[in-house]
Amino acid sequence: MNAPDTPFAFDAAITQAADKVEPRVVAWRRDLHQNPELGNREVRTAKVVADHLRSLGFDSIKEKVAHTGVVGVLKGGLPGPVVALRADMDALPVAEEVDVPFKSKVRTQWNGMDCGVMHACGHDAHTAILMGVAEVLAGMRAKIPGTVVFLFQPAEETPPVGEEGGARMMVEQGCLKNPDVQAVFGLHITSIYPTGMIGYRSGAMMASADRFRIFLKGVQTHGAMPWRGIDPIVVGAQVVLGLQTIVSRRMDITKEPSVVTVGVFQGGVRQNIIPDDVKLEGTIRTFDEGQRVEVQEHVKHITEMIAAAGGAKAQVFIDKGYDVTVNHPGLTAWSVPVLGRLAGEGNVGVVDKICGSEDFSCFQQAVPGFFYFVGCTPPDKDAATAAPNHSPRFYVDEDCLKVGVKTLSALALDWLASNG
Ligand SMILES: [Zn+2]
Ligand SMILES: [Zn+2]
Repeated sequence: MNAPDTPFAFDAAITQAADKVEPRVVAWRRDLHQNPELGNREVRTAKVVADHLRSLGFDSIKEKVAHTGVVGVLKGGLPGPVVALRADMDALPVAEEVDVPFKSKVRTQWNGMDCGVMHACGHDAHTAILMGVAEVLAGMRAKIPGTVVFLFQPAEETPPVGEEGGARMMVEQGCLKNPDVQAVFGLHITSIYPTGMIGYRSGAMMASADRFRIFLKGVQTHGAMPWRGIDPIVVGAQVVLGLQTIVSRRMDITKEPSVVTVGVFQGGVRQNIIPDDVKLEGTIRTFDEGQRVEVQEHVKHITEMIAAAGGAKAQVFIDKGYDVTVNHPGLTAWSVPVLGRLAGEGNVGVVDKICGSEDFSCFQQAVPGFFYFVGCTPPDKDAATAAPNHSPRFYVDEDCLKVGVKTLSALALDWLASNG
C-alpha cells in the first residue's frame, strides 16, 4: 500500500497544484461575481459548478439538491473514510458600488421588490475556492485514502419568503449520507482581517439568530382622552425597555453573551389618535442552545406580563433561525496545526465570538465540523475600517483565494490520512 505515512505527505503537492490552478480560480470568481444569483435561484452558478465537476470525472454529481445545490463525490484510489467540504453559492439583494471591471450590474426581484444583486458576502469566492479544491484533489485522486464529498450549497443568506432551502434542506435530502460523511470543513472570507490571516474558535463561534414578532392590541381612542382607551404605544415602549432587562438582569453573562434587539416599532397614523395596534420586531442572538430557549421564554413572558399590566393583549411569535455555529473541540485542535502549516503559523489565531449566524451549523449538528475565517482585505487597506461583508462596497483581495484552496485541500487530505 502506498498510503501516505505522515500528514505532511500532501503539502508540497497541494501547494504546487494550488499555485497552478490559481489563475482559473480567480477567473471563476470573477465570472460568478459578474453573474450573481440570489438564494434558491443559483441556476447558472450550479451549472458552472456541475459542469466543472463533470470535466474532472467525479464519481457522482447530484444536482438540484435543495433546489439548486450540487453534491459531488470524489472517490480516492485508496480505501478510507469520508470527509465533506462546503461552499455556499448565493448572493445578496445589494446593488454593487465597487469599481471593478467585473462589477455586477444584475437586477432582479426579491420578495416582490426590485433590487440589485451582488456577491457582497464573498460566496463567489467560496464557490471558486471549492471548484479549485476539486481540481487539486481530482489531480491526485489515485493517492487519496478515502472519499471527498463536495457540498455546493444554495440559500445560505436564506431563501425567499415562503420557500425552504439552504443547509437544513440539503441535510434533510441526505447530502451527508451514502457515502456517510464523518467530518465537514468550511470557510468564510471576511474583510475584518488582512489577506493571509486565518481566524478560528473552538466551541461556539457564531451566534444563533431568531426573529421575534410582537403584536400588541389596545383600544383606539382620541389622543386627548387616553382614559377612554388602552394605549398600545405606551405599552410597546414599556415592552422595549422590558426586553432590554433580559440580557442585563436575567441571563448569566459569565457563561455566554447574548443580544436582544428591537428593530421595528410600528403603530399609529396621526399625532392625536391613540391607535388600536402596535407591531414590534426584533432579533435574538445567543451562543448556547440552552440560553437561546431561556431568552425566547423571557421575551414571551415579559411581553405578555407588561401587556397585561397595561390592559393590552399581546401575541408573541418566535421564528427560529440558524443554530449556534459550534466548532467541534477535538476537530478544531486537530485542524489548527494543518492551517498553520499551509498558511504560516503566525497567520492563524483565535478570534472573538461573532454575533452573525451561519447555516454551516446544520452540517455541524449532523457530524463534527470545523469552520474558519480567511481574511480578504488587501495589505494597502486597513482591515479595521474596510467595508464589511454585506456592504455594497465589500471588496475581496483575490490573493485570499489561494489560501482557501490550500487550506481546505490540506484539511480534507490530512483528515482522511489521519482517520483511515
Ligand atoms: Zn452573509
Ligand atoms: Zn456569508
